[in-house]
Amino acid sequence: MIYLDNAATTKTAPEVVDAMLPYFSEYYGNPSTIYGLGASCKKAVNDTRQIIADALSCKPEEIYFTAGGSESDNWALKATAEAYANKGKHIITSKIEHHAVLHTCEYLEKKGYEITYLDVDENGMVRLEDLKAAIRPDTILITIMFANNEIGTIEPIAEIGKLAKEHGVLFHTDAVQAFGQVPINVDEMNIDMLSASGHKLNGPKGIGFLYIRTGVKIRSFIHGGAQERSRRAGTENVPGIVGLGAAVERALSIMEEKTKKEIALRDYLIERIEKEIPYCRLNGHRTRRLPNNVNFSFLYIEGESMLIMLDGKGICASSGSACTSGSLDPSHVLLAIGLKHEEAHGSLRITLSEENTKEEMDFVVEELKKIIQRLRDMSPLYEDFIKSQK
Ligand SMILES: *Cc1c(COP(=O)(O)O)cnc(C)c1O
Repeated sequence: MIYLDNAATTKTAPEVVDAMLPYFSEYYGNPSTIYGLGASCKKAVNDTRQIIADALSCKPEEIYFTAGGSESDNWALKATAEAYANKGKHIITSKIEHHAVLHTCEYLEKKGYEITYLDVDENGMVRLEDLKAAIRPDTILITIMFANNEIGTIEPIAEIGKLAKEHGVLFHTDAVQAFGQVPINVDEMNIDMLSASGHKLNGPKGIGFLYIRTGVKIRSFIHGGAQERSRRAGTENVPGIVGLGAAVERALSIMEEKTKKEIALRDYLIERIEKEIPYCRLNGHRTRRLPNNVNFSFLYIEGESMLIMLDGKGICASSGSACTSGSLDPSHVLLAIGLKHEEAHGSLRITLSEENTKEEMDFVVEELKKIIQRLRDMSPLYEDFIKSQK
């Protein structure tokens, strides 16, 4: 099997699993208790808080553990909306956010909030002049993702943070795809809130965190016990938190090497596909792009058929067509960068890990060439198109 879907989830690294195991049956105490067993668990939880704080250059008490990226996004948006409603009810986001942000925005619209969904350019970049023009006296929050999960485009986060600060507006970023892949400094980038998730960086599933800058008036998300400074009640997911800490440490220690390796593989794959497969288009920014992301549209191809045939060859990848949403609408991200429905339907997302090899990339290109040719040979539209070219 060749796993090329690391934006969907990653393999839990063996050292992460090793770090977690003792916290199931040996150190199983409740961190809120006062005897030694609980105290060791509390220490493990706070060690991870410190690891993450060091990674973001923030204070450990600004890190709140959650059940993952979706919860962090929900919390950041809903709780800010509630806490700042007396200042205003306007929120700015982009059209290419993850559904955890977009669907939360839709929910807030029903509650009387007004949302501006910024367009992006053809590479998926938010335009700063659009953002500036959208800010109003009643704007309480800007939420723009750090890097896009489908097309890999990295947004101008420091510039957005600067604008938000100048206008006295809070800035949240969904950094689920970026955290652990690219360096992040919340002070230099003027980020007030940041969401991340363990399973996107070789950590376990069901654990993540929300960074909340000191001074941000944000309400509790889960009411109950006093965990997470009374803002997110519930007995801590200690094994998950320990695994998250180990994953973050690992990600930081290998970041430079991993990035170098992935960029080389990514650019090799992009080059071969562009050279050897006709009628394709690279989606996303060519250089301001996550090191592991490759996203192409192939004309006259149905994404799902392509994925099934790739799966038949042991290749796991993803598409911007209907499969993920369960609907027939193609990816909102690909439509937002200006693709036609048929171009969006024929898209393929490949997201690498540092474990992939050049030989695997060669195999993928060879199989992809055959699959695309076979699918095009079955397409009457492609036949018409070829005739029209002659
Ligand atoms: C995966 C992902 C999420 C959701 O994270 P979960 O931990 O799976 O809830 C949110 N935003 C982005 C950009 C993602 O890629």
